[in-house]
Amino acid sequence: MLRTVVDIIGRLAAAAGNGLWPLRCALCGQSGHEDLDLCAGCAADLPRNDHACEHCAEPLADNHSSIALCGRCLQRAPDFDACVAPFRYEFPVDRMIQGLKYRRELVYGRVLGELLARHLCRRETRPELVIPVPLGLARYRERGFNQARELALPVCKSLGLALRSDLITRRRETQEQASLDRNERLKNTRRAFALTAPLQARHVAIVDDVVTTGSTVNEISKVLRAAGVEWIEVWAVARAERSR
Ligand SMILES: [Zn+2]
Ligand SMILES: [Zn+2]
Repeated sequence: MLRTVVDIIGRLAAAAGNGLWPLRCALCGQSGHEDLDLCAGCAADLPRNDHACEHCAEPLADNHSSIALCGRCLQRAPDFDACVAPFRYEFPVDRMIQGLKYRRELVYGRVLGELLARHLCRRETRPELVIPVPLGLARYRERGFNQARELALPVCKSLGLALRSDLITRRRETQEQASLDRNERLKNTRRAFALTAPLQARHVAIVDDVVTTGSTVNEISKVLRAAGVEWIEVWAVARAERSR
């Protein structure tokens, strides 16, 4: 009996390893498609961020279709050089990110990370390093994983890039950005990050789940810029509109 159970578990594990595990849509339970735990219908319905600021990827209102930059980037450019965010932080992408972050629903990390990778594979130049936004030690212990790293893993695997989770550290614990207004967010992240080792890269990508004010990725960009990085990209699954 025990042998049979062990045998079945072994065969199931082998099937999963071979990619033979039946794919199920993480949103509606129907069959997945294109090697994703997402069905064709749910994939087509995701809120794409097609009309966005060319610099920071903030969604732009439809009635300003001729303007390529958001008002804030027109006033002052962010510290990074480009931001890629294929989705708007709206239903169901917001729920998927929250499920990953707060309920450890790792299937959403795999699906969203793979969708981000497929979006990025059209880009001509590739960074030498990919750095997920780090969590502070206390939050990492409480959560047990870093959602930005979960998203960066399939990206780096698909695109053959070097993932470095160890290069940037959060020097002090910051509050959850979601609970703060814009000014508090800026204060919260100021000088919160530091390099842990000398960096020799000219092109780096920072990965995060969602970018809202951009204050976190801006602070990391300042650290990278001071270390001599010439081109800094931010790769996020979703871009939220800043509260005005
Ligand atoms: Zn579905
Ligand atoms: Zn912008």
